[in-house]
Amino acid sequence: MQTLNQCLMRDDFRVGADLDAWFARGGGEGLAKALDDPAAIIAEIAQADLRGMGGAGFPAHRKWAPVAAAPDGDKYVICNGNEDEPGTFKDRFLLEHTPHQVIEGALIAALATRANHVVLYVNPHQSVSLAVAREAVKQWSGHAQVAAIEKWIGAPLSLGVVPSSGLYIGGEETAVIASVEGGFPFPRRKPPFPAEHGVHGAPTIVNNIETLAHVPGILRHGAQWYRDLGLGNAAGTKLYSLSGDVLRPGLYELPMGTTLETLVFQHGAGMLQGKEFKAVFTGGPSNTLLTKRDLDVALDFDSVRQRRSRLGTGAMIVVSEGTSIVRKVADYVSFFAQGSCGQCPPCKGGTFQMMRLLNRLDTGRGVPADLEALENLCSVLPGSGRCGLIDGAVTVVESSINQFREEYEALLMA
Ligand code: SF4
Repeated sequence: MQTLNQCLMRDDFRVGADLDAWFARGGGEGLAKALDDPAAIIAEIAQADLRGMGGAGFPAHRKWAPVAAAPDGDKYVICNGNEDEPGTFKDRFLLEHTPHQVIEGALIAALATRANHVVLYVNPHQSVSLAVAREAVKQWSGHAQVAAIEKWIGAPLSLGVVPSSGLYIGGEETAVIASVEGGFPFPRRKPPFPAEHGVHGAPTIVNNIETLAHVPGILRHGAQWYRDLGLGNAAGTKLYSLSGDVLRPGLYELPMGTTLETLVFQHGAGMLQGKEFKAVFTGGPSNTLLTKRDLDVALDFDSVRQRRSRLGTGAMIVVSEGTSIVRKVADYVSFFAQGSCGQCPPCKGGTFQMMRLLNRLDTGRGVPADLEALENLCSVLPGSGRCGLIDGAVTVVESSINQFREEYEALLMA
């Protein structure tokens, strides 16, 4: 894997499950500072403008504050490492190489919210991540800092690993809760939100692995240090998973707000020889495609949203001129159709029908009525599901038609 040596992915942080090595490199200092003043942690996280790195970019402190405000009793912090989207490969890197950074972040979250359960929820298909996470968790058993957290919260702290179902939908936050409870990962309606009614009804935080990995550094060096790492109005750094038709695909930790052009042409070394940049499937790929006119966009949550797309997980799947957008979209919609949990008929049937129509069009068997039917599905399906899967599938289809309509029309039978 191609990586850059920034704060989350520093070479000397790659100690695997070895807790002593983590402490020898300054690990534990963030938690030590947090223990000095647990009541100030959430304000520090808010000041840092730490966002949820799993897709939504929701401010982390706004998930933490209602859990902290809930009465004492069972509370959960879940580190969401289900990572299964096409083109995303960042959380597995953190779990394999620097799991204590993640665990320390989760322990700080537990301290801030007086949570007595910390769960690492890991995709079992990533067997190395799972094995390293299990070993890393064992090493915190009986540690003095864990004892200090227990003293603050007035209860024993359970720290464990739960393998996810390995299904794509198992990463949706309410599906995570269902899974941790031992059930099938069916997403649930919101509200109630996990902060009010999570695992077995207890207040629960579900944070992405990357989000929690940023927390020790923020506590150790301060919110301003973290803010200064970003570009423009964006704070911190971001792990970008760069793949597709570039010369140097890989995982890059760069200042949040790095432009798409810098990522692709500087860090990714540009397009494969003889190819020209055409578009990028971002963060999923369940978002509006970015095209040539978006090369100057700053890759942070707010700037990408201003282009009517979303940064999502930070995955950037680059496609070149000559690549069929219709084929790519058909493949991704097929992924969503297979990933649908089936609870909502419009999602189960809608993703299947979109997949069928896209395959007809891609193989030159489509007629104008097929394209119209596809567009009709894009207008009736949004908002018809319990979770965002159906909306994501529609977004990528609609965006591809809007931006590359001529490719669809060229495939129609006369
Ligand atoms: Fe399941 Fe789709 Fe409904 Fe989400 S929208 S709950 S994936 S059927």
